[in-house]
Amino acid sequence: MQKIQMKTPLVEMDGDEMTRVLWKWIKDILLTPYIDLKTEYYDLGLKHRDETDDRVTVEAAEATKKYGVAVKCATITPNAARVEEYNLKQMWKSPNGTIRAILDGTVFRAPIVVKGITPFIPSWKKPITIARHAYGDVYKNVELPVPAGAKAELVVTDKDGKETRREIHAFDGAGVVQGQHNLDDSIASFAHACFDYALSTKQDLWFATKDTISKIYDHRFKDIFQEIFDKEYQDRFAAAGIEYFYTLIDDAVARVVRSEGGFIWACKNYDGDVMSDMVATAFGSLAMMTSVLVSPKGYYEYEAAHGTVQRHYYKYLNGETTSTNSVATLFAWTGALRKRGELDGLPDLMDFAQKLEDATRETIEYGVMTGDLYALSTLLTKRKVDSETFLQEIAKRLEKKL
Ligand code: NAP
Ligand code: MG
Repeated sequence: MQKIQMKTPLVEMDGDEMTRVLWKWIKDILLTPYIDLKTEYYDLGLKHRDETDDRVTVEAAEATKKYGVAVKCATITPNAARVEEYNLKQMWKSPNGTIRAILDGTVFRAPIVVKGITPFIPSWKKPITIARHAYGDVYKNVELPVPAGAKAELVVTDKDGKETRREIHAFDGAGVVQGQHNLDDSIASFAHACFDYALSTKQDLWFATKDTISKIYDHRFKDIFQEIFDKEYQDRFAAAGIEYFYTLIDDAVARVVRSEGGFIWACKNYDGDVMSDMVATAFGSLAMMTSVLVSPKGYYEYEAAHGTVQRHYYKYLNGETTSTNSVATLFAWTGALRKRGELDGLPDLMDFAQKLEDATRETIEYGVMTGDLYALSTLLTKRKVDSETFLQEIAKRLEKKL
């Protein structure tokens, strides 16, 4: 068989620990035998981030702006233990945070649904996609400890030097204070990304905040969404037979739990962080979740939603066999390849991505799966395999399709 050709390289961001091991196996077993894989490689492994004073992360994000499509492996966000373990120069920031701050945009996360893995919520029949705003709020906060007797104020100085002040609190006892911000432009691009995604996938869009309590901050989100919807999307939504609907976050949670699924749930940054883990777990596992960052300028970064699976990595280093689920990492690759194919007009590449995803689902539905899914699956034929065998089993089914 002739290998499938690519035109533009993918920005490849390698990562850490077990997912770095899976990364190489996915390429060796499922990609390079069939595709003339073109990538521009950035090593975001913690050691190399430390060696480059984290410049490599910025360069990888800049390359994503140049080429448009990136695929990222899970990476360690260092804490004190990691600083010691890797003898780091400093506690480098989260690479995901750095990349999101450069690209802006919205993260869409959707469960990968397979037969035999039933959601914990019996009414859920279709996937629920979480759209998470990836800029600002508590992720760009400024916070301080406050000593007893101090007064905290919010001060905004306009460009002519005029000050607007609000007292936050006069502290009798010690406490804490936090400042957050967001930008109209970023909220607007979040809204556009959500409306466009709803249209392209023909699903209803729900959006929720706490605007009854946060009458200026959260209300701004609600207003911007509504203005953009009324002006630019109302007719197209009607033509597509889909709905946009706003409600309070606590009402949304109740409705989501009672729903059938099959819609997009747009969330502010923090809500999206928490709710995507809740939705992923309720559907089965974080390892069965796709995740893509869509920037307002049309850049795409595909990743897995889970971490570097440290516990499995130490087993692997000890020479023990592991049974780590590579589906989310594999779907990051297929998502990126499909998008590259779409942008470059390469139907063969898009077709390959689809067949690889189908082969993956069929492997699990046939009963061949990793330990995490084995614990959940209701299939009578289920069989637990190790990390590498799982990929080889997918390759067997992929071969038949090509
Ligand atoms: P994790 O890597 O997501 O793993 C937590 C546990 O979830 C694992 O120990 C494992 O459970 C299970 N699990 C997660 N992914 C799995 C998979 N693909 N297959 C099978 N089981 C899976 O979280 P963590 O261990 O708390 O974090 C490790 C590192 O990941 C941290 O340094 C953190 O900074 C980083 N992280 C990176 C990202 C990212 O880059 N996107 C996101 C989150 C965390 P069992 O041990 O019970 O088998
Ligand atoms: Mg999280």
